[in-house]
Amino acid sequence: MLPVVALVGRPNVGKSTLFNVLTRSRDALVADMPGVTRDRHYGACHLGERPFLVVDTGGLSGVEETMDVLTARQVRLAIDEAQVLVFVVDARDGLLPQDHAILAELRRSGKPIIAAINKTDGLDEQAALAEFAAFGMASTLPISAAHGRGTDELLRAVLPLLPPDEDVAGEVATEDGSIRVAIVGRPNAGKSTLINRLLGEERLIVSDVAGTTRDPIRVALERDGKRYTLIDTAGIRRKARVEEAVEKFSVIKTLQSIAAAQVVVMMIDARENLADQDLTLIGYAIDEGRALVIALNKWDGLDAYQREECLRALDRRLVFVDWARRVHISALHGSGLRELMRAVVRAHASATKELASSDLTRTLEKAYESYQPPLVNGHAPKLRFAHPGGTNPPTIVIHGTRTKHIAPAYQRYLENFFRKRYKLEGTPIRIAFREGE
Ligand code: GDP
Ligand code: GDP
Repeated sequence: MLPVVALVGRPNVGKSTLFNVLTRSRDALVADMPGVTRDRHYGACHLGERPFLVVDTGGLSGVEETMDVLTARQVRLAIDEAQVLVFVVDARDGLLPQDHAILAELRRSGKPIIAAINKTDGLDEQAALAEFAAFGMASTLPISAAHGRGTDELLRAVLPLLPPDEDVAGEVATEDGSIRVAIVGRPNAGKSTLINRLLGEERLIVSDVAGTTRDPIRVALERDGKRYTLIDTAGIRRKARVEEAVEKFSVIKTLQSIAAAQVVVMMIDARENLADQDLTLIGYAIDEGRALVIALNKWDGLDAYQREECLRALDRRLVFVDWARRVHISALHGSGLRELMRAVVRAHASATKELASSDLTRTLEKAYESYQPPLVNGHAPKLRFAHPGGTNPPTIVIHGTRTKHIAPAYQRYLENFFRKRYKLEGTPIRIAFREGE
């Protein structure tokens, strides 16, 4: 599973500044579920070839009485789910009693901790480090998140603490040839209802082991002669109450499932308005290059007007994934499931389709002939040939000149052209330009 690094510390020590540097993202995932504090951020970080998740925990005050209980619980969940803890302190404030209290809590987790002494810009680094020597920690690094200083060293210190690299990449095929599917969505979208439907009620053998196992559960499923591996977040576990569903919802597990899957089924409750969180999850799946199917659940019992409203809203807000198939289902009654699984198989087939260099080049020539990229300083960028650069997502490498000047709009044009030519449905496409003759 994708490893997790949690940033923990008092408010205002610079955690979110550090988070932004590490993930280089302006629009991080923000949890906006009930029961999940708003100020937790999640982002992907790539250290060389090694991907991991960074969580900005929002902050512990270190003072139990004044601590927002819910916030503290969420921070503890993040600590629980992380493999490495980065303890952020503020060099300008110096060492405060709350820092000691937080550190004591982190130490109880037994996980590796790195202390990042932040805001050392304009300070004497050695003096700052000396003050925090009282932590008695082997790994104490001076950084300045705001100036991006010391953050590479921090990443280099994190790397050896991550668990050994396993198969986390989606492009690696499952040994038994099954399709790895993650079923994700907000609490109460109907994930566990769907999974139980697919497995059949009698297969509900998985005990409630949320407290004992941290890895998402994988369950084999065979249906209409096709084999799947369902990667579950928490949906396979039996849940008694709605509060429990919210309680157990884990953004981290959701993101880990997406990373481990080949196809993501995004479940949306057709009775609810599409939430920003839905869009953010879809965006994350696309960024990770995953194939995608959108399941509109609870389609039962909606009248014609409601259905039309729902579809109109989706048309408006999901234009950026118009290539993903939308399937109407009722997990409760079991309708639409055959179509859903067919869409999964099709998305997987598109995502793993082998494309031939000669044909890619011919298609590129056709695309280029019918519409050329705008001139740059009087010269047209030239696109010479193409070859495949990988699958899941299908990646097309295009060689040419002045490719740096090719606008995003032209790149989208090419994507669409290739998508049509190869009937790639349900998968994002990557285009990579290479400069040279
Ligand atoms: P968080 O509450 O721990 O997430 O802290 P923020 O990232 O929001 O930062 C709190 C304040 O400290 C902001 O005003 C930041 O601009 C400032 N800050 C963060 N990192 C640095 C740094 O490296 N140097 C200085 N001088 N200020 C910083
Ligand atoms: P999860 O949190 O995403 O796993 O959601 P659950 O599977 O626990 O479902 C949440 C609630 O929605 C439960 O009360 C389900 O019975 C209900 N539900 C799930 N699927 C459907 C459906 O297709 N139609 C209707 N009417 N209710 C559903």
